[in-house]
Amino acid sequence: MKSLKELTRPNIWNLAPYSCARNEFSGTTASVFLDANENPFGEGLNRYPDPLQVELKEKIKQVKGIPAEYTFVGNGSDEAIDLMYRCFCEPRVDNVVAIEPTYGMYKVCADVNDVVYRPVLLDDHYQMSADRVLAACDDHTKLIWICSPNNPTGNDIDREEVLKVIDGFQGIVIVDEAYSDFSRQRPLRFELPRHPNLVVLNTLSKAWASAAIRLGMAFAAPDIINILNKVKYPYNINLLSQQQAVKVLSDPFEVDRWIQIILQERTRTIEAFAQLDICQQVFPSDANFFLARVNDAQGIYDYLVKKGIIVRNRTRVQLCHNCLRITIGTRNENNDLIGALRTYGK
Ligand SMILES: *Cc1c(COP(=O)(O)O)cnc(C)c1O
Repeated sequence: MKSLKELTRPNIWNLAPYSCARNEFSGTTASVFLDANENPFGEGLNRYPDPLQVELKEKIKQVKGIPAEYTFVGNGSDEAIDLMYRCFCEPRVDNVVAIEPTYGMYKVCADVNDVVYRPVLLDDHYQMSADRVLAACDDHTKLIWICSPNNPTGNDIDREEVLKVIDGFQGIVIVDEAYSDFSRQRPLRFELPRHPNLVVLNTLSKAWASAAIRLGMAFAAPDIINILNKVKYPYNINLLSQQQAVKVLSDPFEVDRWIQIILQERTRTIEAFAQLDICQQVFPSDANFFLARVNDAQGIYDYLVKKGIIVRNRTRVQLCHNCLRITIGTRNENNDLIGALRTYGK
């Protein structure tokens, strides 16, 4: 790995961060707060929230096993994705490499930040070749994006290939594990101590059933986390979201129960889907959705919309011609989907 100073944009490396009132005083003994121009009245939301989310990170440590100094908390994973560009990629100079197809935000944030995005096509089984990814890099490649289990394909990316990219790259590798709760592959966040150039993304939006509160995490070596914290908005996670995140993370057994139900439903729904006349192929899934090739993705998508059922049409995505991406819902929702598709064209 190059030094973090070489990898970081010079303006960010030299940045003196805004120091907010809650940063300058972070002790616990005071009782009179006249430092932040807040209104002393109100119903419990009158104070600025903790800018470094200390209580929440303690909870994350208990559940995820990652210490607070290895943890960045963002307004969804999307904040962490955007910050990686803003911190490490010089517009019009640096580039990033990503697997293709994958989650659309990596490309959108590259475009917003005016950073060249180099997609590397997966193979016919939606697997990544580490050699091809590394061959796409040059001296200006700062970041590599890998998503596993991958969206929209649904499969785990082979762990040995991911580790080969991490070990073979001079810059930072981000592995987005938004769906890892549904996979049997060992999460990569446990490899952080051995890999100073690894960033792992997690989110409360999927298995943790909290997409509405916008809570994402980046796990990485403390010197990377410190750079992200320096650049983020001071109060990026509002108090209501911090409190709700602590609450959902306090009941991991309930989440395990949901995951077991979703995995059973995944098996059942995929089996039924594979029997449909319209189905050409269901791709293997390690996530809470599956990708399937059908005979007419657009026609079936439009038909389902008319029935009030919304799936994702991925037909225009590379390697996904005539493919639909279908989220696993409740048993009734999945039955509605299969029932509607049985009468398609009849
Ligand atoms: C859904 C999803 C996320 C979650 O993003 P949030 O901003 O945390 O809601 C992240 N990465 C991938 C690949 C996803 O599919």
